Amino acid sequence: MTKANLPIVPPAVIGIIGGGQLGRMMAIAARQMGYGIAVLEPGANSPTAQIADVEINAAYDDKVALEELLFVSDVVTYEFENIPNAAIKEVVQAGFGYLPQGHMPLKITQNRLREKDAAVACGYGTAPYADVSTEDKLLDAIEEIGYPSILKTVSGGYDGKGQWRLKSKDDLPEALEVIKNAECILEGFVPFDKEISVIVARSTTGEVKTFPIFENDHANGILHLTTIPADVSDVVADKARALAADMMAKLDLVGTLAIEMFVVGEDILVNEMAPRPHNSGHLTIDACNVSQFEQHIRAICGLPLIDPVIVHPAVMVNLLGQHADYAVKQWQTPAYGDGKMHLYGKDEYIRDRKVGHLTFVNDDAAALKRTVDAFLVDFPE
Ligand code: AMP
Repeated sequence: MTKANLPIVPPAVIGIIGGGQLGRMMAIAARQMGYGIAVLEPGANSPTAQIADVEINAAYDDKVALEELLFVSDVVTYEFENIPNAAIKEVVQAGFGYLPQGHMPLKITQNRLREKDAAVACGYGTAPYADVSTEDKLLDAIEEIGYPSILKTVSGGYDGKGQWRLKSKDDLPEALEVIKNAECILEGFVPFDKEISVIVARSTTGEVKTFPIFENDHANGILHLTTIPADVSDVVADKARALAADMMAKLDLVGTLAIEMFVVGEDILVNEMAPRPHNSGHLTIDACNVSQFEQHIRAICGLPLIDPVIVHPAVMVNLLGQHADYAVKQWQTPAYGDGKMHLYGKDEYIRDRKVGHLTFVNDDAAALKRTVDAFLVDFPE
């Protein structure tokens, strides 16, 4: 039975599809408010399951398991977009439970072509792009877009995986090989000034609130640092926030949408979207009056949203498998001891996989920068 669109209040149970760190931080925020948590994740004792009351271990597209999750939960959400959309659509349409976000955001954001088409349909710019599913299409696209460009798999890529930089025609043979094995998109390389992201929440009641702009630095295609306040002009900040709120409403989304953007002069281009809280928003836990996770729970439960503001300037350092031991060691010293440590309870520290983050907050922005610069001097590669 689909639940009525009323505020869903504690001690109701929130079901989360996906057991990673995003689900964990949603669960922590929800628990603090008094909700119960159920999670669906194939592996046992996942980062989210460690915080949950009910753990269902099965594939994300196991219909019986999905039905069980929907049955034990008053409201269901997902913590990442690469979950099979068809199974979710089927069980929700069969009326097994309440998933206010619906399956449509998954359909759009699982596919880079659909994602860019959606941005364009909403009236916004992206890097030049083309579908390059055949050799002829790739050759035509290179003719049009030129070098340097980036070949990306249409689906399944994340954190710089599934991407190949094409610098000159010498890279063409490899590109032709890649497209034989995976559906791809070709994007023009954007010589951006900065990368930013905007996180916006929209409640089941239609209320929309946008977080301040996050400024992001990537290393090897993976988020390395996020800083607030972002060093962008008011024009750029206003444009980016308005874009995010507008897309949220035009696409009729509920929950959280994160949009990664390139800043070029005073212009912004949409790069990627995720229908969920986002790595770049983790510092909201320690630096804003509401975290992206609390806001997400409020949005899917139909509670009033909080107008997000920055309480302290902050920098988040992403911790990958190779960084965790260093970070924990440094954090035990007085110089970095006031950093806010968030480890995700992963059972192994795997290279280039996210295992935690450390947020430094300081009302003195210059002192904040000095701390982060010093912390990063011996940061492992
Ligand atoms: P993505 O997985 O699309 O977010 O790409 C990972 C990172 O690669 C981005 O955060 C950028 O730093 C870089 N990147 C991706 N696409 C482009 C592009 N079209 N032009 C320039 N840099 C890009």
